[in-house]
Amino acid sequence: MQIHAVPVLNDNYVWLIEGGQRQCIVVDLGDAQPVLAAIDALGLTVQAILLTHHHADHTQGIAKFRARHSVPVYGPATEAQRWVTHPLADGDIVNLPQIGAFSAWLTPGHTLGHLSYLTYGAAFTGDTLFSAGCGRLFEGTAAMMLASLDRLATLPDATQIYCGHEYTADNLRFAQFAEPENTAIAERIIAVAKAAALGQPSVPVRLAEERQTNPFLRIRTPLLRQGIETFAHQKLNDAAAFGALRRWKDEFDGLSPL
Ligand SMILES: [Zn+2]
Repeated sequence: MQIHAVPVLNDNYVWLIEGGQRQCIVVDLGDAQPVLAAIDALGLTVQAILLTHHHADHTQGIAKFRARHSVPVYGPATEAQRWVTHPLADGDIVNLPQIGAFSAWLTPGHTLGHLSYLTYGAAFTGDTLFSAGCGRLFEGTAAMMLASLDRLATLPDATQIYCGHEYTADNLRFAQFAEPENTAIAERIIAVAKAAALGQPSVPVRLAEERQTNPFLRIRTPLLRQGIETFAHQKLNDAAAFGALRRWKDEFDGLSPL
């Protein structure tokens, strides 16, 4: 299995997963043209589209794409009904010949029906788990998102995380602000800047590295927890600490000159 990143729109990734015999599937479709071009250039045959959630920057290329490749669209049973031809519930498995088996995990928080897709050594986490961050809580609660990230964190260390956006450099700025003593974050900032200078994506990234650098996977570490509670001016349980961390980052992003 070979996985290609196709950058679309401002900072989205469509993931093009190539299996044997030039078969492929795509994960999310914020824009059709760059993906159609990549498929033509690689000489691939498309089997299916996997959709993580209903937002336009993940779905608005579907109609144009399917005018050329009329393939099934697997996606959440509870959202994006306009596009999904094969609805999936939590735990469903999609078997794609020559490519592999993909388990759908319901990972709500960013949206209520958000799915992540797991396959051999890889997780496609859409806008749930980003590198060094997580999606904003547009529909779900902090407790939901925390449960979703806790579940993804049960995957093995070597799992490669493929997320929906190139937000890593921005996310790391907040990660370092929230945890200034964390040297793994400082090292990752340098690595991500080097990749960017070469025009390379910062993802995929190993889950082991996320455990060291992603504040949203680290709310139970004492120093970060102390920082969150200082921000919130009170002692907090896990879900409340997660919610406060999310608000802290939202404030930080609003204040930073991006
Ligand atoms: Zn989204």
